[in-house]
Amino acid sequence: MTHSTLSENLKAKIVQCVAEPALFNESLLSWTTIHIGGPAEMMVFPKSRDEFEKLIATLRECKIPYIILGAGSNILVRDGGIQGVVISMNKALATIEVKKTEGDRVSIEVGSGVMISKFLDYCAFEGFSGLECLWGIPGSIGGGLFMNAGTREGEIGDFVCQLNIISREGKYRELFKDEIEYHYRSIKLPRGTVILSALLELKKTDPEEVRRKQKKFIDHRVETQPLKWPNLGSIFKNPPKKYAGQLIEEAGLKDIRVGGARVSPMHGNFIINEGGATAKDVLTLVGLIKDKVKEKYQINLETEIKVLGED
Ligand SMILES: Cc1cc2nc3c(=O)[nH]c(=O)nc-3n(C[C@H](O)[C@H](O)[C@H](O)COP(=O)(O)OP(=O)(O)OC[C@H]3O[C@@H](n4cnc5c(N)ncnc54)[C@H](O)[C@@H]3O)c2cc1C
Repeated sequence: MTHSTLSENLKAKIVQCVAEPALFNESLLSWTTIHIGGPAEMMVFPKSRDEFEKLIATLRECKIPYIILGAGSNILVRDGGIQGVVISMNKALATIEVKKTEGDRVSIEVGSGVMISKFLDYCAFEGFSGLECLWGIPGSIGGGLFMNAGTREGEIGDFVCQLNIISREGKYRELFKDEIEYHYRSIKLPRGTVILSALLELKKTDPEEVRRKQKKFIDHRVETQPLKWPNLGSIFKNPPKKYAGQLIEEAGLKDIRVGGARVSPMHGNFIINEGGATAKDVLTLVGLIKDKVKEKYQINLETEIKVLGED
């Protein structure tokens, strides 16, 4: 159980902002794809823009720390769990709507709570092309936008024309293309900003063509990634002009284990949970890898995953 930081009075204030019942001391094991993590002191499930506005304004007014949890496919929660509030996007805006069509360009508004896989199924059905390379990323649209999810073939940020957000002051805002700065696996936004939805511009084409392109990416993932084991995708960002996985493999680190965590024998940049791994096991492996790669290549590997919570 996390050390309690929220008084009964504060909990009651937060509960009033969101209709869906809150959870207390909820284990985050089942809320992350690597199945690791201590408990969340309080977990809330806002649905509408109105609930997000009220919630964020209250958290700010009461100086309560919070984190935003999408599908948990890029988050390692430390074993001591998360103090304060975890805002789950699990029940949040899950709509997909075509807003405008001009020639072969189509603008689609998609909510943060929609899973990337569901959106790509929709795109394949409608013949909307551009994001095929995201196939197989097990995250939500909100998490994808925050991480600027992508592959060597492209990133979601390239297709964003507008982001609808709740600022850390609890105010709804629309950010247009020239106000949004995307980088490799990140976006520049003030800490605590919630992404509610985005307007994406894709190309209308033949659905069969979209499905064919998606299949190419599906096949590649199945061949190269350890998808049978709980994991977080790539642990490290690729350094300029290098691949982190290749450096790890060439440093002889493929297949090493700490507790229940193991560097995947299939892909050097993946750490898998073989059963009962703790965040400490994963972080020990991360430390070993960073030290060895630094010693051998004088390269500082930077983690792509977000490490949150208390030891
Ligand atoms: C098998 C596997 C393969 C993967 N392959 C890829 C890949 O090819 N390319 C790639 O880029 N990633 C990949 N990933 C990593 C991950 O899936 C992506 O980063 C994904 O976009 C994260 O989405 P999520 O909803 O799970 O976010 P989470 O992991 O829940 O959160 C990630 C970060 O985003 C923030 N966040 C989430 N939602 C919001 C929101 N609505 N508003 C503001 N902040 C938010 C969180 O606070 C956190 O900091 C892979 C992961 C796995 C497990």
